[in-house]
Amino acid sequence: MLKIGVIGTGAIGQEHIERLHNKLVGSTVVAINDINRAQAEEVARRLTPAARVFTSGHDLIADANVEAIVVTSWGQTHEEFVLAAIAAGKPVFCEKPLATTATACLNIVNAEVASGRHLVQVGFMRRYDKSYRLLKHQIDSGNLGEPLMVHCAHRNPNVPDVYGGDMAITDSFPHEIDVLRWLLDDDYVSAQVIMPRKTKHARKDLDDPHMILLETRKGIRIDVEVFVNCPYGYDIQCQVVGEDGIGYLPEPMSVLLRKDAKLSHEILQDWKLRFIDSYDVELQEWIDSVKLGVVLGPTAWDGYFAAATADACVEAKHSGQIVPIEIGERPTFYAPAVLKPAA
Ligand code: NAP
Repeated sequence: MLKIGVIGTGAIGQEHIERLHNKLVGSTVVAINDINRAQAEEVARRLTPAARVFTSGHDLIADANVEAIVVTSWGQTHEEFVLAAIAAGKPVFCEKPLATTATACLNIVNAEVASGRHLVQVGFMRRYDKSYRLLKHQIDSGNLGEPLMVHCAHRNPNVPDVYGGDMAITDSFPHEIDVLRWLLDDDYVSAQVIMPRKTKHARKDLDDPHMILLETRKGIRIDVEVFVNCPYGYDIQCQVVGEDGIGYLPEPMSVLLRKDAKLSHEILQDWKLRFIDSYDVELQEWIDSVKLGVVLGPTAWDGYFAAATADACVEAKHSGQIVPIEIGERPTFYAPAVLKPAA
């Protein structure tokens, strides 16, 4: 049993504790921390009564009984906890974002490379979604020919009041940033953001929707609509246009209804339901890979790439210019062949 310590017992922290302790195979949650100790104690009592509750995340990381760390606290705290886990030589799964600035992500990359050990995985769960995996299989098998263009939509029925500023780019869009790089096995070279007419459903202080355009090294053109006040529901669309065919991301499974003179499918309202199964796959694969001593999921480099791409998109939005994305070469430390388990 992999003995896990979880830092952050908010919404996703509680869901991950439940998964890691009560649902998945090969792990147990032995330690819990939250800045709100009363909440951590309540969560421990309810989900994992034998776990020790720590007042400090750093003490949890240092505890000899904790073999691996899961960070589900606020984004602003991720850098310090991930760096502490690397310093302690312990594998760490960090929910997205890896850190809230590209500089902080690069600090983590540099610390991990300097440690010489592959320890960090980032919670970009779309790579574990069955529908994205089916679409990737079509691309990788060559069935579509070389991809030329990708058309995507990230639609959300509404957002909370704390969702403001450029969060469409820095909070919603990073999922597309990561999953499209993975899907296409390519990196981005430039970003442009176009602001369409604003919807009447958005708060006065919120820009919505956004149209984000990316160009990849191979010359693939990507357009992503991020629309977070889309009244009909939560809807993730992705269409890969190849030389020989077009691949569509499968729709979530739902019953086809003939009712009230209509033929219809339900559209999800809650983002959590769309990717619920992928969290299980993601953490089960993480547990299994930690036991092998490898990182097979999104790396710290992927977390850094996502942050740097989001920065370029924010700059592109405010400047109205096409902004180059100059991130440099991936360190060989993160080359796929190095990350795989030894044969
Ligand atoms: P949340 O409900 O606000 O939970 C965050 C928790 O962290 C809160 O209980 C907060 O305590 C605690 N916390 C803050 N500072 C801390 C510190 N220094 N030490 C220990 N605990 C601290 O947020 P959430 O929705 O669970 O999101 C958490 C992270 O997961 C975010 O980075 C978010 O982007 C990510 N996330 C990812 C996905 C995904 O699809 N991959 C989905 C949801 C969330 P207080 O509230 O008491 O201050």
